[in-house]
Amino acid sequence: MTHYDIIIIGTGAGGGTLAYALAPTKKRILVIERGDFLPREKENWDVKAVFLENRYKTKEVWHDAVGKEIHPGTHYYVGGNTKVYGAALLRLREKDFEEIQHAGGVSPKWPVPYSDFQPYYLLAEKLYHVHGQRGVDPFEPAEKEPFPYKALRHEPRVQQLFDGIKGLGLKPFPLPLGLLLDEENREKSQCIRCDTCDGFPCLVDAKSDSEISCIKPALEYPNVTLLTKTKAIRLETDSTGKKVTRLEVERDGKKEFYSADIHIVSCGAINSAALLLQSKNDQHPEGLANSSGMLGRNYMCHNNSAMIAISTTSHHTSFQKTFGINDFYFEAPDWKYPLGHIQLLGTVKKDMLRGEAPFFTPDIALDTMAHHIVGWWLTSEDLPDPNNRVTLDSDGKVVLQYRPNNEEGHHRLVKKLKEILHSLSHSFIPTSIHLSKQMPVDAVAHQVGTCRFGTDPKTSVLDTDCKAHDLENLYVVDGSFFPSSGASNPALTIIANALRVADILKKQIK
Ligand SMILES: Cc1cc2nc3c(=O)[nH]c(=O)nc-3n(C[C@H](O)[C@H](O)[C@H](O)COP(=O)(O)OP(=O)(O)OC[C@H]3O[C@@H](n4cnc5c(N)ncnc54)[C@H](O)[C@@H]3O)c2cc1C
Repeated sequence: MTHYDIIIIGTGAGGGTLAYALAPTKKRILVIERGDFLPREKENWDVKAVFLENRYKTKEVWHDAVGKEIHPGTHYYVGGNTKVYGAALLRLREKDFEEIQHAGGVSPKWPVPYSDFQPYYLLAEKLYHVHGQRGVDPFEPAEKEPFPYKALRHEPRVQQLFDGIKGLGLKPFPLPLGLLLDEENREKSQCIRCDTCDGFPCLVDAKSDSEISCIKPALEYPNVTLLTKTKAIRLETDSTGKKVTRLEVERDGKKEFYSADIHIVSCGAINSAALLLQSKNDQHPEGLANSSGMLGRNYMCHNNSAMIAISTTSHHTSFQKTFGINDFYFEAPDWKYPLGHIQLLGTVKKDMLRGEAPFFTPDIALDTMAHHIVGWWLTSEDLPDPNNRVTLDSDGKVVLQYRPNNEEGHHRLVKKLKEILHSLSHSFIPTSIHLSKQMPVDAVAHQVGTCRFGTDPKTSVLDTDCKAHDLENLYVVDGSFFPSSGASNPALTIIANALRVADILKKQIK
């Protein structure tokens, strides 16, 4: 059995970023990833292959509490889900770290303040090449430094909408995006502003995903080893149950064992909980690090909807997803509770309208309409509920139980966007605006919360360093730690937290 200083399981936003940040420590680091490198091939940008045939989605089948099949919208590759993400990299708001009263209940206070995350948000924006403009988003947290890269320009139809919405007295803002784009030097720019970004792998490696931004540079260090197509099966402990001693993996159909001084689980919120539940033993009969009973519970994934609106005129926008609206993030003139965040979707293509595209598109036959459509993505906070949880069935397969909550604010957000678009009525066919669709349980893209961090070992799985309360050498560094979900896309917070935990670990392993 080979021994390392550190084992990191998973290479997504959490694990990949952590590997990057720890690589210069010269410590022997083993990175385990169940998937392979995502192949660079023409299908990367083929709408049918990606959205209708689900070429890159896992074929794994999970179940819900009543045994109904779930076909999770998740991706097992080096880089994890960031290989297909939309790269909208927003910070949570300062207030998201505080207790907030929602119409449907309370969003709990985080155990650390926003100020602990601020320097790491800044580092994360630099590392993931984020383009944006400070001072426009009405609720953005205070930051002295500008975004590392200038905001993307809007294409003509998008600019028209941006101006129209501004004309209504709202404050649309350039969406922070992680892309390797240089608009002033387009011929040398890696990103070509194509129409297949959000939801697609990037064929020209121009999306700041965890493989491109973190794993590749980490592998340049001789002390970092990556094993792909290697699935973590269980973590074992010593007889006291206080220390992880061994990791069992499945590689090429065979069992192998590795050990390390520090074990870091970064499999994504659902699979991290599953791995720890799978690792139960005599000292941890309910699952590793589960003395609180909270492991796998408080799963959140946001209340998300996609909406399409049909323009009276056709447009040929290539890269559409360039602005967002946060005016209703915390309240609206007619509603004192949070509603959420609105952003443009990537360009809607005709093949997305054909099938039952699980990621975001309402199922309608409108292929001739594709060039008239503007797509929107709406996100509102769902609240932690211990009964929304990950468990395992008798074969060790994931069971995901989720009942949406706090939906009133989301419904109001959908209504607000319809009203905004109606106010631009010369731009949209009024009766066409309402084709919205709330995401089903298979939509696990924004999964967080299954190992929440906190100061009380009775009510949280992790301490504020993201170390398991119950074990001295086990950390969980991915979306699992969120005590509440806010209404901003989660990846930048996962990345910032990985950088924060890396600093904590660096002090410890000196
Ligand atoms: C289509 C899509 C669009 C998105 N767009 C955005 C966006 O625009 N902005 C945003 O902020 N977020 C977006 N997200 C969400 C974002 O991608 C996730 O929040 C983020 O990737 C989660 O990071 P993570 O480290 O928690 O998990 P992941 O990125 O899922 O990484 C987990 C890794 O662990 C590996 N793994 C799992 N189990 C095991 C095991 N047992 N053994 C070994 N390896 C294992 C997986 O293969 C994967 O590589 C999007 C997601 C999707 C699917």
